[in-house]
Amino acid sequence: MTAHETSRSFSQIDIAPTAAQILGLKLSKQDGHPIDLALARGSKNVAIIIIDSLGYDLLKWLLPALENMRELISGGQLLAMDCVSNHTTPAIASILSGLLPQNHGIFDKAGAKESPILSLPEIASQAGRSCAVIMEQNGADVYQGLIEMAYGISDRVPPQDFDQEACRMTCLALRKRPRLLVSYFIGIDKSVHLGLGREGIMDAALLIDRFIGEIMMAADEETLFIICGDHPVHAGPLKRTKGPYCVAAILARGRANK
Ligand SMILES: [Zn+2]
Repeated sequence: MTAHETSRSFSQIDIAPTAAQILGLKLSKQDGHPIDLALARGSKNVAIIIIDSLGYDLLKWLLPALENMRELISGGQLLAMDCVSNHTTPAIASILSGLLPQNHGIFDKAGAKESPILSLPEIASQAGRSCAVIMEQNGADVYQGLIEMAYGISDRVPPQDFDQEACRMTCLALRKRPRLLVSYFIGIDKSVHLGLGREGIMDAALLIDRFIGEIMMAADEETLFIICGDHPVHAGPLKRTKGPYCVAAILARGRANK
């Protein structure tokens, strides 16, 4: 990190500009700024993995149990990022566009389909960079026919099955060496909304940590991973009720020897 970077705060809207810079793309509009990390230099591909409800404090609480994420942080960087919304759809739209919610105007699933705003996978694909998006069905539908691979998973399947499928498809997609990959894990957020308490959240996180380990093994070191939350926990006993509202973001390089 440069001296300049250590003195500034980070936001979710910095993710798309950071990815765009690595991919050699220019976003026509952006509210965020590229994060200048030494570990990102020389990387060619970007994988953005969104973990629903991965607040910064939540990750700190979970981390002693999360072997793979701890290892990633030790070789990479953990950042607290200001979150731009307490809801999934506008937060993910900000992660993938670099725009604040008031500037992308995407507040629900219908809005995501109708929005004229181009997000990073579309911009990358139009510029000839191969892209894979693995997401909940409605989210993936937005990209159908616009990018190389858009794979939707029904959110009606049990959360652990959803996350397992997200892991399987992410590993499969990584074999094709996409320049940009976006995937999404739902288990922690589902545990929160099913009222499963701390134990349920921990179980979901342990499973996701295992999947992250599998994914990292499938990715080469030319790939920069940005693993981030969409918002802090917004219901249940671990609900974040006062600011600062921050999500966790882990930046690290892949480690497969290929
Ligand atoms: Zn969410």
